Amino acid sequence: MPEIESKPMPTPIKALILDMDGVIWRDEAPIGDLPKIFATLRQRGLKFIFATNNSTKTPEQYIEKLSTLGVNVEPWQVITSAIAAAQLLKRDFPSGGHIFVIGEEGVKSALREQGFEISTIDNAEKSDAVIFGLDRHVNFAKMREATLLVRRGVPFYATNPDKTFPTPRGEIPGSGAWVSVIVTAAGGVEPIYAGKPFPFMMELCLQKLGTTPAETLVVGDRFETDILAGQAVGCPTALVLSGVSVESDSETWRPPPARVEADLSAVINQIGNSLPYKYE
Ligand SMILES: [Mg+2]
Repeated sequence: MPEIESKPMPTPIKALILDMDGVIWRDEAPIGDLPKIFATLRQRGLKFIFATNNSTKTPEQYIEKLSTLGVNVEPWQVITSAIAAAQLLKRDFPSGGHIFVIGEEGVKSALREQGFEISTIDNAEKSDAVIFGLDRHVNFAKMREATLLVRRGVPFYATNPDKTFPTPRGEIPGSGAWVSVIVTAAGGVEPIYAGKPFPFMMELCLQKLGTTPAETLVVGDRFETDILAGQAVGCPTALVLSGVSVESDSETWRPPPARVEADLSAVINQIGNSLPYKYE
């Protein structure tokens, strides 16, 4: 896990890094009056970017979904853990290469955009790296090839460590749960993670926003992903209670987030307030 550093007094806030599930919508239903919320952000000159650990969808699919909810954003404003992972691979393999992928279209298209070749099961052995992202068509052959490559010392990456993935029926195995199978089979080799709570995706968001950590507020509904990720890169954080984490969790989380609010709308009202963020 990344080191935690507290940055409690952000004045003024110039930008927001927003989680989506549990902040913007929950089970497909919008949380609050989204067109009004984002009109307010624009009026106040606050930049924003979405950062999600979900690697299954492409940014274009999120742009489409946001647009149906009355929120129009540009492609640079959506960073998924798949986009972050492809950037991380580009950093480590600047001249490209063959990547063995367990993952859905979000991961594959992000890698292709960065110029990588996607290995198949049949030519997996040639791969320069292995990447795991949630794959709802995961099977034994994919897990076998990934394990063989990692055991051989081929660099191992993963989009995010979330143990579960929320669905309307409850929590189902997430990326981290599947990764743990490869880690176990490969004798304890851990992947390099792109997504929250690890810092790479947040640093990418800051770079796109062009703001410093101190003037960028990270908003999310989970302590162990969103709040930890924000704290890891030195951003002030706000937890919203419209998703997974509940208020009593905030009593034990150290350092606590700068704010705990009912939802995104309440967070933005606090930013409009000229008072500095209070560290409670
Ligand atoms: Mg969330």
